[in-house]
Amino acid sequence: MLYSKFFIPTLRENPQGAECVSHRFLLRGGYLYMMLSGIYAYLPLGLKVLKKVSDIVRRHMNDKGAIELVTSYLQPLEIWEKTGRDSELGEVMIKVKDRKGRDLCLGPTNEEQITEVVSHYVTSYKQLPLILYQIQTKFRDETRPRYGLMRSCEFVMKDAYSFDENEDGLEESYRKMLDAYSKIFKECGLDFIVVEADPGVMGGSISHEFMAPAEIGEDILFYCSNCNLYFRDISRCKKCGMPLKEKRTIEIGHVFKLGDKYSKSLEATFLDRSNQRKYFIMGCYGIGVSRIISAVIEQNHDNKGIIWPSSLAPFEVDLIIVDIDNQSLFAQGLELEGILQDLGLTVLVDDRPEQVGVKFNDAYLIGSPYILILGKKYLQDKKYELEVRATKEKFNFNKEELINFFKNVN
Ligand SMILES: [Zn+2]
Repeated sequence: MLYSKFFIPTLRENPQGAECVSHRFLLRGGYLYMMLSGIYAYLPLGLKVLKKVSDIVRRHMNDKGAIELVTSYLQPLEIWEKTGRDSELGEVMIKVKDRKGRDLCLGPTNEEQITEVVSHYVTSYKQLPLILYQIQTKFRDETRPRYGLMRSCEFVMKDAYSFDENEDGLEESYRKMLDAYSKIFKECGLDFIVVEADPGVMGGSISHEFMAPAEIGEDILFYCSNCNLYFRDISRCKKCGMPLKEKRTIEIGHVFKLGDKYSKSLEATFLDRSNQRKYFIMGCYGIGVSRIISAVIEQNHDNKGIIWPSSLAPFEVDLIIVDIDNQSLFAQGLELEGILQDLGLTVLVDDRPEQVGVKFNDAYLIGSPYILILGKKYLQDKKYELEVRATKEKFNFNKEELINFFKNVN
């Protein structure tokens, strides 16, 4: 992709109101445009990253046999009244009345709607187990939206719902999701921990949270550096008795064993093996898809910009052609782009008629894991200069060495 033919509106200065590293780099790097506090448009780079996160999530959910659907964004308030969550979540719901006078809300979550759909079609134990999921925009009327995608009024979530005959079935679905979650966060390049948590407003018995340590995290955990264990409360380490250190973390995923809380209040039943009517035994499983983007940046950056893991980078290689007026250098750049693409890499070719310093600043800010320079060294002795952002290593490679390098990292 030629930089000059794409749309990456980077900013020189830190934008007003950017409250943390990820927020600042997303706005400055041309990933997001702030429509209002807590409400963002995804610019082309931002959309590329969002799609990459979504694809990772989708692949691991599909691997576990979960099936994708999308429910409606507008939901009737009635279904929330049945579970009583219209009052519990009433404050954060964005409510609207249509011209027929129907009371609707923009969904902050989907247990009610999914349960209604499933109870409409699933009548027998023979149709179970069933795990449905969606990757969909959710809405919350946040009084204090903060930190860009971390706490916004509009955000993308992956929410999954399992339906089983009994507790054993639920246990199996729950384990599958725990396993998928670990794989997803690992592939996104996140450092994370899993802790048992309070089910809170979701109800149910057991829940686990996936937390990514980061300075801007809004959840505090207590850490024993001796045992590498995390605890919910400030008491000494339950294993070795050492004092604990406070660690701030970002919640990136949360899974719940709901049991029959929702199926009971929504009268969602099926016929079991002895032909008895039974309530579905449910679990629900959330991942903050857009929030992952912020968490990854909080954990992977330096003072110049983002340092993406290859799995999420909008472009894996930023190829800087130092002098674009040099026709043969430019032609070499395009040929190199083709070679790298054949190796399965995505390449941004910076062909803008800008000072080389500007190109470097933008390359660091945007955060491709590899910066490749076609300049003086190439003109002198056909060497490509490669900089690896994460390790700060620099190499001078000939063509064959460069190809071998990328063959080995991919
Ligand atoms: Zn300990």
